[in-house]
Order: sequence, then structure tokens, then C-alpha cells
Amino acid sequence: MRTVVITGGPCAGKTTALGALRALSERAGVPAIFVPEAATDLIIGGVAPWTCASMLEFQTRVMALQLEREAEAMSQAEAAAQAERRANPDVLVVCDRGICDSHAYLDDDDYARALTANGLAEGDVLARYDAVFHLETIAKTSPEAYTKANNRARFENASEAAAVDDRGVAAWAAHPNFHVIPSYADFERKTAALVDAMREFAGIDLRERTQSSPVLVSACLLGEPCRYDARSVPCDAVRTLGRDHELVPVCPEQLGGLPTPRIPSEIQPDERVADREGNDRTDAFLAGAQAALRIAREHGCRKAILKAKSPSCGVHEVYDGSFSGIVVPGQGITAALLADAGLEIVDETQVRP
Ligand code: SF4
Repeated sequence: MRTVVITGGPCAGKTTALGALRALSERAGVPAIFVPEAATDLIIGGVAPWTCASMLEFQTRVMALQLEREAEAMSQAEAAAQAERRANPDVLVVCDRGICDSHAYLDDDDYARALTANGLAEGDVLARYDAVFHLETIAKTSPEAYTKANNRARFENASEAAAVDDRGVAAWAAHPNFHVIPSYADFERKTAALVDAMREFAGIDLRERTQSSPVLVSACLLGEPCRYDARSVPCDAVRTLGRDHELVPVCPEQLGGLPTPRIPSEIQPDERVADREGNDRTDAFLAGAQAALRIAREHGCRKAILKAKSPSCGVHEVYDGSFSGIVVPGQGITAALLADAGLEIVDETQVRP
């Protein structure tokens, strides 16, 4: 489990960035739990600095709610990590602000009082989080673009927002893995900078995993001499994909225990698989398909590129079982199992160089 804080000054694009992180983590298959911002929820709910006796009282309440939410998220993350231990050992907890943010609104003495009231020691607070990313407010670079209109809980004007931003940086500066993301007018650029920083400084690789998720590939297309005649059918377009994607080669017929070379097999009209001499090979083909699916899951593959027309790998058509070169619409045994499991399957003829 890794816990990161996304924080920043008022109108820093934090909400937009968190929405993008949520979408990216889902697409990348990174299990993530998001802890909502405590201060905003309190203010919208009617507990605000101006309804409390003091800023100290308000920030003490913010801390209490933040702690409660972090504890719940960490408990959920532990449970998720246990459940997904093999495929996804790293569950990500993303906190919308963290405990130290209160220090931006309190002097040192009151901050210490708020910590004590919540049973925290100042030295322990930073260690709660593996990394902290501060988004700089737009009030510092383009004050004319600063607005309170998109957040009911925002009460600072532009110059106050810039000052809060500075105090927020100071509050977190002692964290050993603290990073400031500069303000760009273009939110997409800012989010990209945040994703890059998360990858570089926290090992959270949302972008790379999104763009380069592993692809399961019929091994014979990559030059492996695993066909029935101990030859391969290398495909340059498929091999070229290896520049941008991790390619995971499998030969289901070999995985099912069949030798190479071997007597060629075809799917029969009764859906059994038999070789040209009439030997039933159904069990070996099913075992190979199960092994290929297991490998796909272990590598997190969501797509497979398979050899056309093969009784294991064919995606759109297969030989008709008469060993006379006639093809009919249908899928190979492995292709059908992968498709049932939710993988996108294509054959090599659909891969553009
Ligand atoms: S089973 Fe698939 S990967 Fe193996 S040789 Fe046949 S087409 Fe290629």
C-alpha cells in the first residue's frame, strides 16, 4: 500500500487533477482509494471557520475528520491488498489534502495544539504519507484567472490564495518526498506533470501502464518455432509493437503438453479437437487455453494478438476439421476462452505496422 497526498493552494486545479487520477488509475488497473477533502465537506455542511469559535477549533475538527477518513481508506486498502495480492500488490491511497494542510492556517503553537487534541505527535505526521504533491494555485501566476465561483467552500481572494499557497508549501516542505507542481494555464499539462511526478518520485506508473499494458501474443508470430511443423510465422507488424508494449508470448498447444513437431489438429464439427490421425486432443487444447488465460491474468493483459485460423488461436475463422484447407467462421479454443474472460482479441491481419 502506498499513501500519497495531493494538495495545493486554492484554485490550483486539484479537483480536476484528482478526477483525472481516478480515471487513469481505473484504466491502468491500479487499485486506488480516494480520501475526500475534509475541510470542504465540513464547510459545505455548515461547520466553517466563521461558525467556529476560532480557526484552531475549525482546523482541529478538520484534522479529526481527515484522520477518520484516512483510517477507513487504509483499512479498505489493506483488505484490497489481501484480496489482490498476486496481481496488484500495491493498492494506492490518494488523500485530497493531508494533516499538515492545517498548518497553512494556524501558527506553530495552534498547530501543535490541534495535533495534540487529535492524539498526534508532530514528528509522526509526515511519516503517514509516502509522497506529497502540491499543486501551485493559479492565483500566483495568473491572478486574473483566479475564481471562487467553482468552489462553495473557497473564501480567499487572489492575494490571500497566493499567501495560503506559500504557507501550504512551508507546511509540507519537511516531507522527504515533497514536490511542487507548477501552475500552468493548461490543466491537462498540469495533470500530466503530476502524473510524471508520481511516476518519478513515488513509483506510481499510471501513464506508462495505461499506454503500454502488456499484450498476450501467439508465440509463433514472434518467431518462436512452435507450430505443428516446428516452424514459426513471424509477423513484423506484431513484433514492432514490442517497442511500446510488453509482449507476452504463449503457445497454447505447447502449454497443453503437445510436442513440437506434432501432427496437426483441427476442431471437428462436434467441437472436439482431433489430429489428422484421429487422435482426440481436446483435453490438451483445453489445458493449453487455461494456461494461456492464467498467464494473461498474471501479466495484466487486456488484449491478445493471436494467429489467424489456428484451432487454438484463430480469432475469426478456423479450419473446418476435414484437413483439406477449408476455413469456416469460428474461434480457436484459446481465443474463445480469452474472449469469454473479457480480453480484446485480434489476429495478426488486424495489426497495422
Ligand atoms: S497454438 Fe497458437 S501460438 Fe502455438 S503454434 Fe499454434 S497458432 Fe502459434
